[in-house]
Amino acid sequence: TKHGENIAVSLSTTLLRNQLGEPIAMLNIARNISERTRLMKVLENRNKQIELINRIIVKANQTINFREIFEIVAQEIQTLIPCDDVNIGVLNPDGASLKIYSAIGKESLSEIGIIPLENSISKFSIKERKPIIVNDFLAEEKYRSIASYKQGLGAQLSYPITLKGKIFGTINIGTKEPYTFFDEHIEMLHPIAQQIGFIIDRILLFNKVSEDSAYVRNLLDSIDSIVYTVDNQLRIQEVNIAWYSFMKDFGIETMEDYHGKALFDVLPNEQLKIMFQNVIDQILNGSMRIFSQEFIHRSSKGDIVYNITINPMVINQKVVGLVFTHNDITALKKSEAELKKSNEQLLALHEISTLVSSSREVNIMLNEAIPILRNNTNAAGIIVYLLESDSNDLILTYQIGFDKEEFPTIFNLPISASATGHVVVTKKPLYISDKVYLDERMIPANREILKRLNLDAMALIPLVSKDKVFGALDIFYDHPHVFSNQEKQILMLVGNQLGVAIENSLLYDELRSQVQRLTVLYQLSQELTSTLNIDQIFEVVYKYVKQVIPFQMFRIDLYNEKTKIKTPILNVEKINGEDIFVTTLSQPTSIAISSAIENVLRNRNIYQSSDKHLIAVPMISKNVILGIILIEAENGMCYSGTHIQLLESISNLTAIALEKARLYEETLQKSIEIEKRNKELDDFTYVVSHDLKEPLISVEGFSRILQLDYKDIIQAEGKEYLDSIVGATKRMKGLIDDLLSLSRVSRPTESFKEFSIKEILDDILNDIEFTIKQRRIELILPDDFPTVFGNITQIKIVFRNLIGNAIKFNKSPNPKVEIGFQNTENNHYLFYVKDNGIGIDKEFYDKIFLIFQRLHRREEYEGSGAGLAIVKKIIELHNGKIWVESELGKGSTFYFTLPKPPINIIKD
Ligand code: ADP
Repeated sequence: TKHGENIAVSLSTTLLRNQLGEPIAMLNIARNISERTRLMKVLENRNKQIELINRIIVKANQTINFREIFEIVAQEIQTLIPCDDVNIGVLNPDGASLKIYSAIGKESLSEIGIIPLENSISKFSIKERKPIIVNDFLAEEKYRSIASYKQGLGAQLSYPITLKGKIFGTINIGTKEPYTFFDEHIEMLHPIAQQIGFIIDRILLFNKVSEDSAYVRNLLDSIDSIVYTVDNQLRIQEVNIAWYSFMKDFGIETMEDYHGKALFDVLPNEQLKIMFQNVIDQILNGSMRIFSQEFIHRSSKGDIVYNITINPMVINQKVVGLVFTHNDITALKKSEAELKKSNEQLLALHEISTLVSSSREVNIMLNEAIPILRNNTNAAGIIVYLLESDSNDLILTYQIGFDKEEFPTIFNLPISASATGHVVVTKKPLYISDKVYLDERMIPANREILKRLNLDAMALIPLVSKDKVFGALDIFYDHPHVFSNQEKQILMLVGNQLGVAIENSLLYDELRSQVQRLTVLYQLSQELTSTLNIDQIFEVVYKYVKQVIPFQMFRIDLYNEKTKIKTPILNVEKINGEDIFVTTLSQPTSIAISSAIENVLRNRNIYQSSDKHLIAVPMISKNVILGIILIEAENGMCYSGTHIQLLESISNLTAIALEKARLYEETLQKSIEIEKRNKELDDFTYVVSHDLKEPLISVEGFSRILQLDYKDIIQAEGKEYLDSIVGATKRMKGLIDDLLSLSRVSRPTESFKEFSIKEILDDILNDIEFTIKQRRIELILPDDFPTVFGNITQIKIVFRNLIGNAIKFNKSPNPKVEIGFQNTENNHYLFYVKDNGIGIDKEFYDKIFLIFQRLHRREEYEGSGAGLAIVKKIIELHNGKIWVESELGKGSTFYFTLPKPPINIIKD
């Protein structure tokens, strides 16, 4: 039965599968012959099948090419199942078409191609996931849609190829005849389809693996790092392309296959071997996770720095091999070094900026900053040139690395013909990387120096601040030197920093010298005002000029505009650094035509030689030339505008002082004369008064005799005349006495001493006590009076006269007299005597102090008019002043000053 057959077949297939080598054994199980015959046939088929599959497997092991395999498969199928058409297709990834790998029998499919699923019977087998048999395309409605593509095929069988539940493709067989395929054919295709599934799987896997490994290989070969692997026996497994060039570097040119060779036989470098030997065991035994170290390979192309790492290959926690990689980190190292260098340079720049911003003096600043710069740049030498404002030359201001004595031509660079000058003019740096001694821009003499000192490279950096340029920085290298952008930038910054610092310090210097000049002028004017001695004036002037203006020769001539004569007064010459005073005999000297002095006198203005080497300045006061100051600079030096201004100021101060001193001398002369005359006058007054008194006494004496002895003889009229004579004589005697006491004031018998005003006031008030009481005079006095220094007798006269007048010239019913004083700032006390009397018209303020000058008739107020004259003279003898302030009818106040006692006396 069909059923039984199925069982038998399945049984025998099972048996067959298990015991492939012994198919005969199964015969014993068969129960009857026919069955046996049938089984024999089945077995035969099975055998064929197995052999077929074996053939397929053998082929599949030889190739991974689908087409080759499928061609065999197709042929084998045809031998197994007679048919007109076989094709094997693999489902494309789109799921909508088949890629046909093999086609036998049918013309249209003889070429490998892609056919849409829609046109194939596979559409059904794939969709239904089971084998499909079409018995007759023309008869079966279901398959009619694809019949047109079948080109004469009557029947077809489509078997889906599946693996792990996934459909890969189909095996399709066909015959021209309809009704040719049965389940038995399906059975026959079953193991083949299964085997194809395995093959496809294996091939895909293989492809994938080989794709992966190719990818890895490519990757390894495309990287620059050298990579090689060894197994745990240290036999080389893989090496990449970079490995070969690495070997080549060691002179090993062969491209031999390193696979399987012992690593240590192959390694081309002893150092590498030693390095590896020390660590390999530890990595292999797992005590070291990873090894990494730098290695310098001195190759013909220069040093290469490798970072070498060794990684273990671990499978199932076992180290099965090692991966070596050499990474070329030369560039990294270089940029690291560059970074470090630029970092150092930045630090140095910072240091230089701090230095230059804190220091005020150019030289100090350069002395600190340039050595740092030199260290940092590895320069052989550095020169700082500063621009001289007057001469347009670059002057060497600071240098290191050169022997100045040996190379005089580096001191001064003309701005027009030197490379440094060019840098200063353009404010742009210049970098010369090598053979600087051949550079035509350099001055030939200096090129020689560069050559002699083996200097190769040079940086010329302008020293600029904002838009101003102050000079240049020349940096010399004793090796060729390529300037990196970073380095250029830093050098520029250094140039700027120095420029700013130099500008600052120049400003500071200017400020300082201005302050110094002002100080000198101030001190000079102070000293000049405190002296009135002409010789001293010139000494002082010389002393200060010496401080602020350097000179080789300094001369002062006095000049008399009226006589047109000049007289040398001071003549100093510098000899061997010492000032020598050339003796001047104060002899008038002649004025040479068109000499500096003649120029000054003619133009009444300052004269300077064209090279500013000599300056002559007039000393002018009130439009009169009093003299000329002449100054000459040392050889090669010239005077700046500042020097000239300074000398003019000094000259003006000198002129003023000179005039003042002369005026003083004149005044002194005059006052001596006046004093002399006053003395003569006093002497005369004294003598005259004294001598006049004698005859007057005689007149009075004889008049009295006449009055007494001849009174009976003389008539009444004559008696009256006689009385008048006696009265006049008396008055005259009074006047002469007054004159005498006035002249006596200037020949005091006592010396000055210290005494209290209170002392003398007590005396005076005692004397006039009666009058005060009688006239009810209100007396106002301060609590205390000061001590003064003077002639006590004379001061007593002063107070007595003033108080006397205050009482005498007073008609007030409540007469008031006030005495007081003020302590003034200087060495005097200011006293006053104030009354509420008749007052004095302003017109007479001065007149009342003249002798015998009175404002009233004798009958009205008695007196002679000598009192205030005496008071004034006494006050003046005490170096004081006296004046009156008054208002008619209201009262007068007399002010006068008296000296305080000298300080040393107070101390005693
Ligand atoms: P005499 O007092 O002898 O007149 P003085 O020399 O003392 O001479 O004074 C001169 C003149 O000044 C006085 O005649 C008087 O006219 C005026 N005089 C002085 N003191 C006062 C006073 N305190 N008030 C008003 N007039 C005065």
